Formats: sequence, structure tokens, C-alpha cells
Amino acid sequence: MTHSPQAFLLFFLASDYNFAMSPSPRALLILAVFFLSLILVPAPLSAQYWSLQDTFVVTDVNVVDVRRGTIFPDQVVIIEKNRIVDVGPRKSTRYPRNAPSASAHGGYLIPGLWDMHVHLVFGDWFPNAQQISLPLFVVNGVTGVRDMGSELAIVQKWRNDIEDGQLLGPRILSSGPMLDGPKPRFPSSIPVATPEDGRKAVDNLKQGGADFIKLQSLIPRDAVFAIAEEARKQEIAFEGHVPDSVRASEMSAAGMHSFEHLIGIFEGSSPLEDEFLKGDKSESKFLVSYDPARASALAAILAKNQTWQCPTLVWEHGGNLIDVTDFSKDARAKYVPASWKDKTWKTFTEQVKTEFNTDDLATRQKFVDRELEVVQFLHKAGVPFLAGTDTPPGVYVFPGFSLHEELQRFVAAGFTPLEALQTATLNPALFFHREDFGTVEKGKIADLVLLEANPLEDIRNTQKIAAVILNGRYFSHADLEKILQKVENSAKKETPQPEHSGVF
Ligand SMILES: [Zn+2]
Repeated sequence: MTHSPQAFLLFFLASDYNFAMSPSPRALLILAVFFLSLILVPAPLSAQYWSLQDTFVVTDVNVVDVRRGTIFPDQVVIIEKNRIVDVGPRKSTRYPRNAPSASAHGGYLIPGLWDMHVHLVFGDWFPNAQQISLPLFVVNGVTGVRDMGSELAIVQKWRNDIEDGQLLGPRILSSGPMLDGPKPRFPSSIPVATPEDGRKAVDNLKQGGADFIKLQSLIPRDAVFAIAEEARKQEIAFEGHVPDSVRASEMSAAGMHSFEHLIGIFEGSSPLEDEFLKGDKSESKFLVSYDPARASALAAILAKNQTWQCPTLVWEHGGNLIDVTDFSKDARAKYVPASWKDKTWKTFTEQVKTEFNTDDLATRQKFVDRELEVVQFLHKAGVPFLAGTDTPPGVYVFPGFSLHEELQRFVAAGFTPLEALQTATLNPALFFHREDFGTVEKGKIADLVLLEANPLEDIRNTQKIAAVILNGRYFSHADLEKILQKVENSAKKETPQPEHSGVF
């Protein structure tokens, strides 16, 4: 996306009118400058954004402190280029009064949200993701994603284009392709049969600029430990599935940075763990053999090692109840191409159903409830959590939209709204050892979401988005609506794709 300076002034004017009841003298002045610029500036000038050149001020805003859960009322937030340079009470905070600004009219400012489990380019399963997923994240206030399995070169190109302002999208940290067994289950995977394969894959990914290593379920046991050792040697984090043939406690001890989908937790909380490691597992067995003493012992290990959990609760719920869910009425379906729905999600649904095996619906419903209890149990034991959705491979798990559902699942599990909000703001920053995002504070990158209502009172208020600030760039509600419309149009005119490569 590139825009002329005029377009940005228009954006700004639109946002000003959104917030103010009547045109202020400032707005009139800007209007004058705008018309002057039409005369003086040739239209296709540079693609620089106005907000990267100027100071921008958000006034009359409640700042949500996601560390402590305090609300600071009547604040001003001063943004210079892409950084927050000051935050403070209106009366005592100094800023140039003629700087462009937007009144938040008492809205609530939170840090930009992170979806900590996404797949940006998943083989050929989700064509046109660039025009669909990336803007849908932004529109939903998701300003950062952890990409857990993708085509590295494509994602790196997107990341560069986003940084240059040529493409609209969130901040991206990516594993590149996933390491899986000799016959990988999913696309965008590297087959690993031997310890040597594993070491080589880690080395190649590190050299190629991957941010971390993603493990899948089928890697042979000896290769898993070789990967862990190589990753430690190369100082690159490894995270993902606890592989089928390894205990959760072993992966935690080996330094695995995060576990996904609660894999390994039920196995390790049962006296049948050895049997499960051989592949003979089901949700009904997990439920009947769950042993609180073993669960406590495992929780203590995970807390001691600070092994992060990204339970992908929306997809755990959706996948387990997929045979009784009617997706046809989902209002968000218009934002994704027909092939995602009619081909990929349809085929994957059939595959997921066959995996239910002997677990009947009542068992699966009970298991989904037990997962929430276990999440709260681990949380109380001091195990840290991340919000991630597994979009879009998760069936009808939507880029952006579903992250808000994930926060609601955490609250359903017993997290306070603040704790739920932390899983997508402060915790991702801690997870990545990054000081430059995750809170609304001086010095942080200006990735911010302005809400119409207090998310600490009701976590569903994260969906009431009035504006998004992405890398210092301000998107009013009207701007976001326009982007959504564009996504809808792109979804409609999807170009026909060849059949899937043989991964199903
Ligand atoms: Zn995934």
C-alpha cells in the first residue's frame, strides 16, 4: 500500500472528523493546507507516511497499564515516527499544540495485540493470504504475529515490504518451515529422519534467518534431542509440539521455549504416559487416567523452567466439536476466499473427524472443558501463557478475529480479563525478550489499539476497536472499514488455484 501525501491528509481529516463533533480551527487549518498541497505537490510523490515524519498526539484517552491493571484517565500519548515518546496526564504533559492529533473521547488504549500461533504461508493451502490474512490481522488490532510454520523466503519478503511501508501487515517473527518426521504431515515442513537431518535443518534455518525452530509431532526421538542440542549450540529457540515420542517433562528440561496445543500435558499427567508415548492415546484415556499428583509434578517442572504454553483454545474447542458446528452462518466467512472454505477447510474437517476415532461427542465436550481447567491449574502453578489461534489451518479460525475469541477462552478458563490481555501483549514481549513493545509506555514502538470500552471490565471489549496505530501509523475506524471492504473484494475475486500438492 502506498499513498500520496494528499491521501494521508485525507486519512487524517477523516480521523479528525470521526473523533471531533465539529471541525476545530486545527482541522480547518489542515483543510487549507490540504487544498494548498493539491496545487503545490505533484500527486505521486514519495510513499512516506505523514506519521513517520511528524509528531502525532492522542488526547483524552484512558491508558491501560497491562502490567498492573491500572487505568490512567485523561492521558495524552505522544508519538514520534514509530515510537511513543511520552505518556502522561493532559495537564502536565508537554507537546507541540499544533501537532496533528486525535481525541480518543475517553476510549481505552491498549498495546497492539499478538497472535502467537499463526501460519502465514502454509504450502498452497491458503492462497492469497497476503491480501487476506495480513490486513485482517491489522484491522483486528493484531499488530504482531508469531509465524509457526511457513515458507521462509516469502515471509521474509513480506516482512521487508511491511517495514518499507509497501505492504500492510503486522510485525512478524517466523520459524520458516517446520521440522517434522520422515513423512511430514503438513506442507511447509522439512522431513527429519535422523539426528543428522535434524542438526542440518537447524543449521540451515539459522543461516537462512529463521527467528526460531518449530517442532512437529512426528520427529523421531533421537532426532528431537539432536535438534534441541544443535539449537542450544546455535543459540536459537526451539518451540512447538512436544513430539509424540518424548515426554513433556523431557522437552521442558531440554529447554523447549513453548509448547503448543497442550500436547504432552495430559500424557504427562497420567500413569499411562509410557503407553501414550508408543502412540496409543485418546481423549477418553486422558480423562479417565488423569492423575492430579502427576499433573502437579509436571506443572512444577514447567513453572520452574518457565516453559511457555500456547494452548490454542479456540481451535481445541472448534476442532473437537467440528462435527456438530454449523459454519455456514459465520458472518466472517465473506472475508476469506472460497477455496479456503470449500477446499482446504472442508478437506481438513474430514481428516480431523477421522482422528476422533473412538472418542464420542460427550467425551470430546468433556475434554474441552477439562482443558480449560488444566489451563487454569497450570496458570495458578506459575506456568506462563501465550494467546495463539493456529489461524488459518484451524478450520474457521480467522486471522485477527479469532485472537479476540482466544482471549475470551482464557477468561472462560478463569483468567482475569487483565491476565487474558497479558497473554497477547506483555507476555509475547517477555517471551521474545523484547523491551520495545508490549505496553503503552514511553520508548515503546507505537503499536496500539484504541478501544471504545474498558477491556479490564469485559474482555469482549477488545473487539470494540475505534482505531489502530501500527508502527506509528494511525488508522481511524473509517480507514479500517475501508481495508475490510478491500479484503472482502479480494476474497471474492480469488484467482483459481491448482489442486493441492499431495499433503492431504
Ligand atoms: Zn499450527
